[in-house]
Amino acid sequence: MNLEIDQRRLNFEIEALAAFSDAGAPAVTRIVFTPTDLKARAWMKTRCEESGLVVREDAVGNTFARWIGVDKDAPVVGTGSHIDAIPNAGKYDGVVGVLGGLEAIRALRRCNFRPKHSIELLIFTSEEPTRFGIGCLGSRLLSGTLSPDIARTLKDKDGASVEDVRNAVGFKGNLDEVKLPAGYYKAFVELHIEQGSLLEREALPLGVVERIAAPASLRITVEGAGGHAGGVLMPDRRDALCAAAELILALEHAAKSSGAIDTVATVGMCDVFPSAVNSIPARVQLSVDVRDTDLSRRDGVLQALDTTCRATAAKRQVAIHSQLLNADAPAEAGAVVISALTSACEKHAFRYKRMTSRAYHDSLFISRIAPVAMLFIPCRNGYSHRPDEFASPDDIARGALVLAETLATLAT
Ligand SMILES: [Zn+2]
Repeated sequence: MNLEIDQRRLNFEIEALAAFSDAGAPAVTRIVFTPTDLKARAWMKTRCEESGLVVREDAVGNTFARWIGVDKDAPVVGTGSHIDAIPNAGKYDGVVGVLGGLEAIRALRRCNFRPKHSIELLIFTSEEPTRFGIGCLGSRLLSGTLSPDIARTLKDKDGASVEDVRNAVGFKGNLDEVKLPAGYYKAFVELHIEQGSLLEREALPLGVVERIAAPASLRITVEGAGGHAGGVLMPDRRDALCAAAELILALEHAAKSSGAIDTVATVGMCDVFPSAVNSIPARVQLSVDVRDTDLSRRDGVLQALDTTCRATAAKRQVAIHSQLLNADAPAEAGAVVISALTSACEKHAFRYKRMTSRAYHDSLFISRIAPVAMLFIPCRNGYSHRPDEFASPDDIARGALVLAETLATLAT
C-alpha cells in the first residue's frame, strides 16, 4: 500500500475552513450553532460527501461521515475532532483532526484499500465551552457521560437553552438517542495539535498520547466579616481574603508535594467583596482547577484542600463553602490504538514521543466507550487558542499519513 497525503489540498482546505469566521483573518471565531458555524458544517458535509462518505447527523449535531467496510456490521474505527473555535482563536485546533482525518480516509481510498471495519470521521459538536459553559458537549452525550436531562438545562448567555438553539438550527431529534450503543467502536484515534511546546523543544515531529489528564473544578466561597480598615483591630478581624490566601498556598503546596510532575493546581479567579481600599474583605470567591493523569493523586490534592478549608475556618472564624463543579476522570489510552500508532511511526521511520495530554479533548469522553489514543503534531511556540496558532503543512501531512496507516491497521 503506497499511501500519499495530498498536502496541497489539505492545506487549501484548512485555509478555506478558516474563512468561515466571525473574526477577521488570521483570527478564527466559530461558536457552535451560529450562522458561521452552520455554514462551516455545510461546507464540511459537502467535502465528506464528495469524498464518497455517507453522512449522518445526530440530535445534537455530531456529524458522522462513514466509509462502509466490507463487514458493515463490525464495530467502527473512528477518527475526528471538532471545528468550533473560541473567540479570537486560530485555524488548527480541532480542524487538523477533522480535515487531516478526511484526507487520511481519502488517501486510503486512493490506494484501493478495502477496510473490513467501517471507518468513520466524526465532527464533534461544541468541544469548546464558549456557548453553553461546558466543554465536549457532543462527546459527553455520545459516551453517556452527560445525561440528556442535564444537557437540556444548559443555557447560553442570552438564556437560550440547548433545546431551543439546536431545534432552531434544524437538529430536531431526541437527545436521548445521541448516546452510542455499546460496542459501537472498535477503536477511536484523534489527531490534534499539541497546544504545548514539548515536541517543538525536543525537535520531534509526532507525539503518541498515552494519557489524557482531566480537571476537577471547584468554586470556594469564604465568608468573614467586613469592617473599617482603621477601626477594627487585628485581634478582632475575620478577614476573608487572609483566609483565602491560606487556602491558595495550601493548594499550591499540595500539588507540588503530590510526588508527580503531572499534578497541577490553579486558582485563576479571586473575587473580593466589597473590594475597597479601606474595607476589610468580607467575602471572597475563588476558582480552583486541579488536574492530574492519576485520579487518586488528583483527589488527594482535593482532600488536602478540604482539610485546610476546615482548619482555616476554625482558626480564623470564617465560613468556607466549597462547591464541586465537575470532576472528570482522566483516561488511559487503549493498547491496541497505541500499538497501531507506534507501528505506523516506525514503518515510516518517524521519531515520536510517548506523552500526556494536559488539555482535555473529546477523546477523553470517547475513552469511556472505546479504546482511544491521540496523535499530536507540534504547533509553533506551543501557541493555541490565539490567532497566531500555527502548525506547518509538513507536520500536518505527516500526522495525516500516520493517522491513515493507523486507521488501516485498526480497520483490517
Ligand atoms: Zn481542540
